[in-house]
Amino acid sequence: MSEPNCPICGSEVDEGRSSDYGERQQYDCPRCGQYEITATAAAMLHARINQDPLVVARASHAVRSMIMTNQWPFIDSTNVDELVNEPLPAIQHQLQNLLDWSKAKAGEAQLSQISLPTLDSLASIVGASDVASVVQLFRWGESEGLFEANEKDRNLRLAPAAWSDPVGAQDKKAEPMADQDEGIERGHCPKCGGDREADIVGDFSETIKFDKQGLVWVLKEYFILKCRGCRTTFVKLTHRYSEDEDYDIDPATGETIITIEPYIEYWPSPIRRERPIWFHKIKDQQLKELMTETYDAVDGDQRILAAIGTRTALDRAMVLLGADGGDNFAQKLKTLKTKDLISDQEKRALEVLTDAGSASAHRSWRPTEAQLLTMLDGIESLLYRMFVLDDALESMKSEVPKRPHRERTPK
Ligand SMILES: [Zn+2]
Ligand SMILES: [Zn+2]
Repeated sequence: MSEPNCPICGSEVDEGRSSDYGERQQYDCPRCGQYEITATAAAMLHARINQDPLVVARASHAVRSMIMTNQWPFIDSTNVDELVNEPLPAIQHQLQNLLDWSKAKAGEAQLSQISLPTLDSLASIVGASDVASVVQLFRWGESEGLFEANEKDRNLRLAPAAWSDPVGAQDKKAEPMADQDEGIERGHCPKCGGDREADIVGDFSETIKFDKQGLVWVLKEYFILKCRGCRTTFVKLTHRYSEDEDYDIDPATGETIITIEPYIEYWPSPIRRERPIWFHKIKDQQLKELMTETYDAVDGDQRILAAIGTRTALDRAMVLLGADGGDNFAQKLKTLKTKDLISDQEKRALEVLTDAGSASAHRSWRPTEAQLLTMLDGIESLLYRMFVLDDALESMKSEVPKRPHRERTPK
């Protein structure tokens, strides 16, 4: 087999984990970095690259800029066009990127010589269209007295000026409303599911006063954010209520500091629980709807509703497996056990789950997030085994070639 190639830039790459029956594939590309892409997105990308040669530079830079804390940047059919159409940064921004990258690389040894990666991958890091543009950036930075770069030996040395005078700092002050590059805000991305750095693409704030003197108020700040990881757009809304003022004493100066802890909302709600990849294989519509609403409640942090939903889904599952709909939970579990569908151990686990659901339904018990996720683990493992795995094994049975019948030859 020949070496695999990067679907973005065509470089030879190391293949990482493949999942979802080959639909998702991880690549470790010397130019684009590490990322994961679906087969569909790779095919779409291929078509876009044939139409416009700049697509490689754009997509490669976009993937490089995805900052992921605990997983590889993920490209699928929903964000591939976003990556491809994202224009390359302006040259001032490219130079700033080069400086930022070099500073991070130099660390404390601010004026030491740092070694550069291939110019190809440096182009992707800073957002230049090609290697020749990177070399031009080198010359520009040198003429500004920011560094000295040697493309032949692939090294660069920052000058003191690079540490004192950020490029374009004055320009930014002069025009605060400059395009979309208004700043960065952290937020909970609904897609890649975590606290992420995001670009602020729009913002608005208003103060609502509740009394004539304006002593009681709420400050609402709306941010339209674009995740720097997966480029998903979402809305963050922070509310700060005057009544939530907290007073602290600065230990150094002795001054009183007023802080107001904000209340934060997101739209769409952050995903607290990823739907299992087999979820669509559940055939019973009612069961599917119950689980969908349960996941929605989990994402909205409505834990009491989610716990009740989990119990109701279990109830539906037990009826589908042959328990009598008129029976109570305990009787239904017993039926499943008698039918040998669940083990003793599973029965005990499901009893805990139904007890928890009942406590929420009848006594408004609000589980912790961890408890709720454990309940979901329980119902998911049952659903998977009963409604997905068995079907899959059954259909596999008919596809596995039978053992050839061996003729007995008489001696
Ligand atoms: Zn690549
Ligand atoms: Zn994201």
